[in-house]
Amino acid sequence: MQKTILHLDLDTFFVSVERLINSELKNKPLLVGGLSDRGVVAACSYETRGYGVHSGMPMKMAKELCPEAVAIKGNAGTYSNYSDMVTEIIKEQVPLFEKSSIDEFYADLTGMDRFFGCYKYASELRQRILKETGLPISFGLSVNKVVSKVATNEAKPNNQLKIDYGLEKPFLAPLSIKKIPMVGDKTYQMLSNLGLRQVRTIQEMPIDVMQRVLGKNGRIIWKRANGIDHTPVVPFCERKSISTERTFDKDTIDVVKLRGILIAMTENLAYQLRRGEKLTACIAVKIRYSDFNTYSKQMRIPYTSADHILIPKILELFKTLYNRRLLVRLVGIRFSHLVSGNYQINLFDDTEEILNLYHAMDHIRKRYGDKSVIRASAMGARTIGRMQNPFDGRPPIVLAHRKQ
Ligand SMILES: [Mg+2]
Repeated sequence: MQKTILHLDLDTFFVSVERLINSELKNKPLLVGGLSDRGVVAACSYETRGYGVHSGMPMKMAKELCPEAVAIKGNAGTYSNYSDMVTEIIKEQVPLFEKSSIDEFYADLTGMDRFFGCYKYASELRQRILKETGLPISFGLSVNKVVSKVATNEAKPNNQLKIDYGLEKPFLAPLSIKKIPMVGDKTYQMLSNLGLRQVRTIQEMPIDVMQRVLGKNGRIIWKRANGIDHTPVVPFCERKSISTERTFDKDTIDVVKLRGILIAMTENLAYQLRRGEKLTACIAVKIRYSDFNTYSKQMRIPYTSADHILIPKILELFKTLYNRRLLVRLVGIRFSHLVSGNYQINLFDDTEEILNLYHAMDHIRKRYGDKSVIRASAMGARTIGRMQNPFDGRPPIVLAHRKQ
């Protein structure tokens, strides 16, 4: 059966939220990010882009390029709340949807045409989000995720676009190959050097040639250029958590040891998040006492993947949870409400040094293994399980369940 897939994307999300809170910022060039000397731009308004400003660059440089821009320190908590508001509206209106990042959603509307027109339904959903949250949002509607995402980007800002069945190829043909999701700067440079700049050129060449140039990715890019994509919409709850726990051979009451283990677990799961380019918005700690009574406590937090934010919160949960002076048999932690995203969300308090530190640590781990760099406070828990990439599309997993 032919599918109907909707892609929704909030326009310049952080910037829009700041303008909602303070309407004086409307139409002014705006930078959101860390304001310290070594801060980084997390988001910038359309007005600043003409000056060569882009997210990820040092704030100092952005201010030099665009001196009239207003710079604001972002707030991950505020953005998480607005993201939740939009999620709730979509959840009410659409049975099957995927939250793919803090400001992006896919919904499978297949079959709804029998009752409503899908385009009409999507338009009304968009209007409702606009009206209830005040946030500009755009959508694309087509037979698959890739074409819908490209359509959303063509519709922006604050607009919508439908690609009728059968018109995927002609829609994509005149666009730059840069617009194909997964063609990053490096791939673009390479294809561009070969004289490939327009999607049409890829459409007209045999798939095998693309494979020869780019390997497996070449096949995927060729298919995308031709509007072919079968990836399903993954329901929001599925595979949206990762967890790890430890059962002790000998029950313990050693709080220093327990904290060390929790820190090691957090450090490791946070690394898994970053490796999969994910963020969590809900954390939980579990304790089983020697009498087998099990307690757990969870907490909503602003989206993050940074250990230095997660560790204090995990320890705080543990402190409120561990209130019986009893031996402990098991501890565990879980991160849920996962969405795609990267460091960007944590750029407000962080300096380039901290970001570079994470990049360097993760780089070393990728090369020499998960245990190659760890926090001193987690050293006592050297045997926390280290594992394969958990974000390969499989359902929720318990990452490690190892006896000590
Ligand atoms: Mg967006």
